[in-house]
Amino acid sequence: MGSDRTHLDIDLAAIAANYRWLRQAAPEAEMAAVVKADGYGLGAVAVTRALVDAGCRTFFVSRLEEGLDLRATFAEPEILVLDGLTGVDPAVLIDASLIPVLNHGGELASWVDAARAHDRRLAAALHVDTGMNRLGFGETELQAVDKTALRHLDLRCVMSHLACADTPDHAMNGRQRDRFRALSGLFPDTPKSLANSAGVMLGADYQFDLCRPGIALFGGNPVPAEVSPLEPVVRLMAPVLQIHEITRAGTVGYGATYAVQPGMRLATIGLGYADGLLRAASNVLNIELDGIALPVAGRISMDLVTLDITNLPAGRLQPGDWVPVIDGAGGVDRWAAAAGTIPYELLTRLGTRLKRRYIPAP
Ligand SMILES: *Cc1c(COP(=O)(O)O)cnc(C)c1O
Repeated sequence: MGSDRTHLDIDLAAIAANYRWLRQAAPEAEMAAVVKADGYGLGAVAVTRALVDAGCRTFFVSRLEEGLDLRATFAEPEILVLDGLTGVDPAVLIDASLIPVLNHGGELASWVDAARAHDRRLAAALHVDTGMNRLGFGETELQAVDKTALRHLDLRCVMSHLACADTPDHAMNGRQRDRFRALSGLFPDTPKSLANSAGVMLGADYQFDLCRPGIALFGGNPVPAEVSPLEPVVRLMAPVLQIHEITRAGTVGYGATYAVQPGMRLATIGLGYADGLLRAASNVLNIELDGIALPVAGRISMDLVTLDITNLPAGRLQPGDWVPVIDGAGGVDRWAAAAGTIPYELLTRLGTRLKRRYIPAP
């Protein structure tokens, strides 16, 4: 599957350090971890093990299958499934001790029915909508909840999700927090959870009892306008396949979008959009080597990307040498920004043929 040519190094110690950083940033709250989408593309089992070792006891995934995969390896931690119950046989969750996040009245009714059928209280989280209009109980639906039915459930948390936490000054943040206080107040004895990574950064007012960071654990900057306090987690290395000394004016790659002149030098490396190198970064991004910026020259191909290495000393790169394509502080953020997207998308699109190497080995 993974090839030995390109490898994605994933620093598990940095993930643990980022977990500890978040914990000290929210000392009053429990710090859970969101490891959906295969741990933001980095390998859910490996990153979960690092987080368990760092003291994390509560994990969120999106899909039922993600929860089942984690449960197959980890018996102890609480695993909550954000997708909820729709389209799912409750018995599958019960057998695997997975906790559904109940997003609407239909799911609540199914889970209460299952609890009655199994003659036991079942753990659940309740998602209330505070303005995102995506998932969660609306106010009217929440007030209609039959409190006696709730006796069949062991409510682990009432949660909501922030739409604009990555923009600290956005007025929506305070509105959602206040709305969350009001709605979650209907469940006074239940722990409350509002903050994702950027929500943790918004401060104590947003942290409540349980925080749910994802991207910050994996080294993406949750608040783009501020310098990230987190450690970089991924390093992507790829080999130089060929060096071109340009002797005749021409262009590089598909679409002939990058002009070259005699005297310029190019390096073609074995990595492309099939590996998750977003094609929208073509002709925009610079890769850094020895502190020298190497422009991505022309379009990123499926399996190849060409760098303009004219500014490097001659001979510095040879076929077979390795180039750090994503590396260091802000590496994933810069790549994502060059492609007009966010580090979340970059990480979750890193291709399956990249060999994941964990440091230290889990
Ligand atoms: C993905 C997700 C998170 C984590 O968000 P980050 O911005 O990655 O920290 C938290 N809560 C919910 C409901 C999510 O879907």
